Amino acid sequence: MASAPSDAKPPQPDAKEGRARHRIRNARQGARHRATYGSSHRQRTRPATLPQHTRASPRAPVSHRANRLPTGRVPPFCRGVAAPKLLCLDCDSTLSAIEGVDELARRRGPDVFAAVERMTREAMDGAIPLEEVFRRRLELIRPTRADVAAVGELYVRTVEPTARETLAALRARGWTPVIVSGGYTPAIAPLAEYLGIARVEAVNLTFDARGDYAGYDTAHPAARNGGKPAILRALRAETGAGRVVMVGDGVSDLETIGAVDVFVGFGRYAVRARVEAEAPHFIRSLSGLLPLLA
Ligand SMILES: [Mg+2]
Repeated sequence: MASAPSDAKPPQPDAKEGRARHRIRNARQGARHRATYGSSHRQRTRPATLPQHTRASPRAPVSHRANRLPTGRVPPFCRGVAAPKLLCLDCDSTLSAIEGVDELARRRGPDVFAAVERMTREAMDGAIPLEEVFRRRLELIRPTRADVAAVGELYVRTVEPTARETLAALRARGWTPVIVSGGYTPAIAPLAEYLGIARVEAVNLTFDARGDYAGYDTAHPAARNGGKPAILRALRAETGAGRVVMVGDGVSDLETIGAVDVFVGFGRYAVRARVEAEAPHFIRSLSGLLPLLA
């Protein structure tokens, strides 16, 4: 006869206590960013280091069912490399075909999707500051941890078809890839791991104990207009990079042109007229980087 089942349950986390812990963690993250970037990127002086918590964790549990490729170990970021060559890549519509925020919005139905699309367009037209749009879009979508994980898998499934081979060839020439994105770090982390990219500069999201949306890293420069040039200058200062290249499809990528040695516009998934007109190089496949970067 089976013994009587134990009715002892594992201790449940107290919701109030969980929220308090999240508030403390958010406050600490904010303080770290303010210490690095200042209270506004416009007032920021060049920092010595970038915040550690924006790095993709090599130990994050990631599913690659779509590609069934080994994830391997993520290499340390620029360790022991004197004057590294940094290859900074946008994520949405560059390393991957999708726009992550659109995919998160789509999961909330057509009305939310249309509203988010309108806000994004207004930000791109300059009608609303990016930081305002960033907050409003997330408040509307309120992505859960599960939503973000699903979009993370989608990023991997829709990876730019030449990305892996191109990055392997460029690594062999001494380039260190970095993702610099106005997207969300936990959504991008699976793609970063799939591509073996150790460093992601994007905006972190926080979730409560149940996995519901609890906020975002409001201090990260990627959540503001002019954020990408600030990130690239900080990366150069942190690593002592000898060369910094930026590749991307968007106007926010084009804005980095004064902060990098080479800017490469990208047009496989979306061709922005201004980027195509003003970029010194414009490619439609990431393999197009190979003849450009020695
Ligand atoms: Mg993009």
